[in-house]
Amino acid sequence: MTTPPPFNALERIRTELAHLEAQSLRRNRRLLESPQAAHVRVDGQNLLSFCSNDYLGLANHPALIAAASQAVLSTGVGAGASHLITGHHAFHHGLEMRIAGFVGLPAALLFSTGYMANIGVVTALIGRDGEVFADRLNHASLNDAALLSRAKLTRYPHNDMATLETQLSSSRSVQKLVLVDAVFSMDGDLAPLPDLLALCERYDAWLLVDDAHGFGVLGAGGRGALAHFGLASPRIIYMATLGKAAGVFGAVVAGEAEVIEWLLQKARTYIYTTATPPLLSAALLASIDLIEAGDGLRVHLQNLIKQLRASLRTPNWQLMDSATPIQPVLIGSNDAVLAASQRLLERGILVPAIRPPTVPANSARLRISLSAAHTEADVAQLVDALNSIHAAG
Ligand code: PMP
Repeated sequence: MTTPPPFNALERIRTELAHLEAQSLRRNRRLLESPQAAHVRVDGQNLLSFCSNDYLGLANHPALIAAASQAVLSTGVGAGASHLITGHHAFHHGLEMRIAGFVGLPAALLFSTGYMANIGVVTALIGRDGEVFADRLNHASLNDAALLSRAKLTRYPHNDMATLETQLSSSRSVQKLVLVDAVFSMDGDLAPLPDLLALCERYDAWLLVDDAHGFGVLGAGGRGALAHFGLASPRIIYMATLGKAAGVFGAVVAGEAEVIEWLLQKARTYIYTTATPPLLSAALLASIDLIEAGDGLRVHLQNLIKQLRASLRTPNWQLMDSATPIQPVLIGSNDAVLAASQRLLERGILVPAIRPPTVPANSARLRISLSAAHTEADVAQLVDALNSIHAAG
């Protein structure tokens, strides 16, 4: 028998994996053995978690569980088809109308995930002859969407409106689209949406606002970033994810009726995929009611944010400039952030270590996410743990 020839591609992957390990860049999953909550069971340990995007504590809310449980009896589990074939259930339809009304836009379309929504919108709106302008700290899904659209991609330094204006004014493209996170997912700060809209108006561009981390949290009644800034314009295409503050799964895009109709006709990540289980839309209808009535949750969340920022005073822990539930502590090196996360874990606290390429090189950080499900005592425990790690050097 002859020995098979060497499989070079697999060898290369083995070498690259070893390289990731050596740089402290290999990612590992943990096993969650409880519902998502402030206190979770992970890898057999009971932990206080500051890891989830469940900002209002709705992921395990009895009203959502009841809505989903009831719906599963009448809808079954799977949607069984894409929306344009026979998968578009009355629950999906009702949710689209509910969210459009909630955020104050004419129409809305459900997508299976935020990642797919961003790809669907960008590729449907713009092609080879267009130009996409994107903040350097935008979420990966917006970057991937721009690349897939084959439009020219021009990135501007974080929140740098002067550079964006120069780029827009010198663009030769007829079709222009500005992409932005309303709340930056790894920094927690806000995009200057009024300035961005003004630039889009001046240079005749679309503005896609990714409000993954603002929907449910910002604005009156949790209506999100547009409500927070009081913005309305036919140029704005609004995208909110439904697996974060809304506590379930999925995403919604809202805007002018013709834009939504265009997406329905052209967005490939809408057309060529199975609709989400209708029971999720039933749960989301209950979730939107709780978000709308959730001022108490949002006030509590803001108080926790203030408590953390006021009590974490040790100079070693540099909280980034954020007023949202995303409260990152800048550490710098990959090794140091892993060590800090590990030492918190030894104290029963789960805070993720975020490293490149999710964030720029040398800006590794602990990403603390607060939730209305936390108590003041939970935040005090986190602060004590951080301070004791610092005291231990
Ligand atoms: N946009 C932003 C800003 C996000 O943070 C995320 C999720 N991490 C997404 C889009 C993708 O949303 P989903 O998880 O629903 O795919």
